[in-house]
Amino acid sequence: MSALIGHRGILRELQSLAMSEEPPHALLFAGPESTGRTTLAIEYARLLNCEQLHPPVTAGSSLFAEDPAFQSVPKSAVPCGECRPCRLIEEGAHPDVITLGPGDALCRPRDGESHTAHPDSRDIRICQVRGLIDLASRFPFEARYRMVIIDPADRLYRNGAAAHTILKTLEEPPGHTVFCLVTAAPEDLLETIVSRCRRIDVRPVPRSEIEASLVARAVEPALAARAAEASHGSPGRAIQFAAQPGLMGDRGRLLERCARVASEGTGPRFRYAADAAERWRKDRLAVLVEIDAWESFWEERLRGGASEGAGHDELAGALEAMKAIRQVREDLQTNVIPRSAFELMLLSFPRVTLAASPEEEPVAYA
Ligand SMILES: [Zn+2]
Ligand SMILES: [Zn+2]
Repeated sequence: MSALIGHRGILRELQSLAMSEEPPHALLFAGPESTGRTTLAIEYARLLNCEQLHPPVTAGSSLFAEDPAFQSVPKSAVPCGECRPCRLIEEGAHPDVITLGPGDALCRPRDGESHTAHPDSRDIRICQVRGLIDLASRFPFEARYRMVIIDPADRLYRNGAAAHTILKTLEEPPGHTVFCLVTAAPEDLLETIVSRCRRIDVRPVPRSEIEASLVARAVEPALAARAAEASHGSPGRAIQFAAQPGLMGDRGRLLERCARVASEGTGPRFRYAADAAERWRKDRLAVLVEIDAWESFWEERLRGGASEGAGHDELAGALEAMKAIRQVREDLQTNVIPRSAFELMLLSFPRVTLAASPEEEPVAYA
């Protein structure tokens, strides 16, 4: 079964783009994390490369060019899932499907330039863009279309040179390479980059669609309903909840812990960050659920604060916290050291004063 849940409209669009005479060479998938943006990009790669959808041209095939049966484009183009490109792409092992993000990927220093390795960088650097341009100028190893997924694309912005170099490539894209830019913050991209891309807005998937998909995957209906509800529109998360329902029940306890940590100073916050990083190595999903709880915690304060006429600083603080959460989610998808990512998040959170708490329990982070 396809990894994709929901997004039928987008899928139809990608199908017709992939089957068109000149598929677009730059797409921008804009939308919140974990909604399926990368899965859609990968699906586009399969649509462009599946050998059943695009049979290799063989000598003599022009004989059939006049035959209408050979000209008709399939109405519902679905990758076969069995040919070599389909399988390699699905396994994440296709040599021509490449992801570029912060870190060392494709780093190509200039000759003679002294250059320090940057596996933990937060930006997509000019040296990486140089490597990318060099790669794109060559023919793919075996693909019909090479795909480069730039994720998160907004990390290009902080390096003006990198953004401008890539812009040139998007203006005159090499024939065999398709760029898919993925971002939760399209407003942080250069307008000139956005305008070169076919923009695809990826929204959270409606609860009912996720629920129905889970049931179709043989998840028990009551559990499917709970998992869909708790996923906040993220199909991937819903699948994980269905597999580990225990993760959904802890929300109240998590929110209490958020409140405690947010009321503490730097020392306990650093300890919390170290602990979260440690747990991240063993159980990513549990930590992602915790980050969701942090988001709810600040959202709640934002809503409550706005209705009670809280001061400007307080609201600004909560907004800053929400931004830090977006940042940590992106950092955790890239090569940033988890501990630094968590520390940055915790230090961006304003300190809150709690209403008198009924129990003075010591903070335990295990
Ligand atoms: Zn195929
Ligand atoms: Zn570099």
